[in-house]
Amino acid sequence: MADDKLTAQETKEQVLWVAQEMLRSGLVEGTAGNVGARLPDGNAVLTPSSLDYLEMTLDDLVVCDLDGNVLEGERSPTTEKALHLSALRLHENIDATMHCHAKHATMFALVREPIPAVIEEFDVFVGGNVEVAEYRTTGTDELADEVASRVATKACVLMANHGLFAVGKTPKDVLHIASLVERTAEIVWGARALGSVVPLPDEVNQTFSGYYRYGRTGKF
Ligand SMILES: [Zn+2]
Repeated sequence: MADDKLTAQETKEQVLWVAQEMLRSGLVEGTAGNVGARLPDGNAVLTPSSLDYLEMTLDDLVVCDLDGNVLEGERSPTTEKALHLSALRLHENIDATMHCHAKHATMFALVREPIPAVIEEFDVFVGGNVEVAEYRTTGTDELADEVASRVATKACVLMANHGLFAVGKTPKDVLHIASLVERTAEIVWGARALGSVVPLPDEVNQTFSGYYRYGRTGKF
């Protein structure tokens, strides 16, 4: 859908940079989290399993078809491979995916409470409240089905007792979305210590989240 499609090389370079930035910006610790993207030929590039992000090179990335068969790369793909591929299969209007364990967002995932869209920017980039997907065990096809189905008209969903999953047009977009979700989760958490959070007017939520849906689907 993007008219400024990345080449295969640019996509891989962005996946690597975004994976490293995900660590540097504190969205994950250690080798947790993973990034995926659709390549121009329809296959997907994924980060490998259990490798230090700061030592990772382009050669460590793994190319799979959307059924999960490894086409390129010496390493094993991320253990959340099914989640990334399921989202890319289900949603043709996104080309990049990220799973991370951002601290404040994960706090909402533990109490299984949505992160409310109480900031206009959040509606525009995320498409409304970030809901909590049902709990499923990490790395399973059941988790992939449950979580990937929740990002049809939103850019992000919380994974119960685990973290978050974000989708976008490019790896840089998903980094921005995951960072915005984390920042908003922290702001809401802090604001609740100060007093009650006042929701945006309904019509503002509708209109602004409509901009997001329009960007994804061409429909408000
Ligand atoms: Zn995880």
